[in-house]
Amino acid sequence: MLAVRGLSPRHKLGQNFLHDHNILGKLVDAAEVSSGDVVLEIGPGTGTLTETLVERGCEVIACELDTGLADLIEERLGSRVRLVRGDCMSKRTLNPEVLSAIDGRQFKLVANLPYQVASPLMVELFTHCKNCEGQFVTIQYEVAQRLLAKVDSEDWGVLSILVQRLADVELITKAPPTCFWPQPKVVSACVALFPNKNKSDIDDDEFATFVASLFAKRRKQIGTILGRRTILPEDISPDARPSTFTIEQLERLFKQVCSC
Ligand code: SAM
Repeated sequence: MLAVRGLSPRHKLGQNFLHDHNILGKLVDAAEVSSGDVVLEIGPGTGTLTETLVERGCEVIACELDTGLADLIEERLGSRVRLVRGDCMSKRTLNPEVLSAIDGRQFKLVANLPYQVASPLMVELFTHCKNCEGQFVTIQYEVAQRLLAKVDSEDWGVLSILVQRLADVELITKAPPTCFWPQPKVVSACVALFPNKNKSDIDDDEFATFVASLFAKRRKQIGTILGRRTILPEDISPDARPSTFTIEQLERLFKQVCSC
């Protein structure tokens, strides 16, 4: 499909096309989509996943940055998808044309995500799109490990905290490089993210900034980072390091420090 159009995969746009129908089926099955569901796909590429979603009766809103691939999608699927041309993110928020196509309806994200936008997009959807019912995505396995990380482990960091506060994360399957064309250098994984309906009502953006600032000094003691005079929650020792804190501890710390 690419060759007849004089196109070739563009690494900088994360163009590794998923051709393994077994993995693709697992991703779509995990999303439990059915006829009439609104599905957002970021980066439809050559349209393999898009076509599967359309065949299951979904109303697909697809956003593609690459002009050549957007033309290909239009030729291949025409009016069967609502195609938005351009970057899915606009200054760290979801492209307004995509938001307008969703039109306030409940939707699921089902996508083989371009690696450059995967993390900001996943966080953004659960922070500012209250109508996102779930995310079912293929991402780099290394990123999946951070999403699934346990507190105080090597992978535990800002992304783990922000996402796990907003969502329950499950591994669907690992996807080796042979599932893609061209083959990426790294292993990928399909993960499911379900929004956490009981998340605390602190300001998501301020909390994200606070956690990022602490983790910039993750090996330092919290007493040194915040100043020894700062009054900490009872269960946090001034000698403890941010990398050992649970989400609940970080939220308590945020409330205490930021309400002073
Ligand atoms: N969905 C196809 C598949 O599964 O084979 C292609 C997935 S490929 C990993 C990522 C796709 O996202 C490419 O089509 C790429 O052009 C597109 N893309 C990259 N950056 C994008 C962005 N910021 N906004 C929208 N699409 C983007």
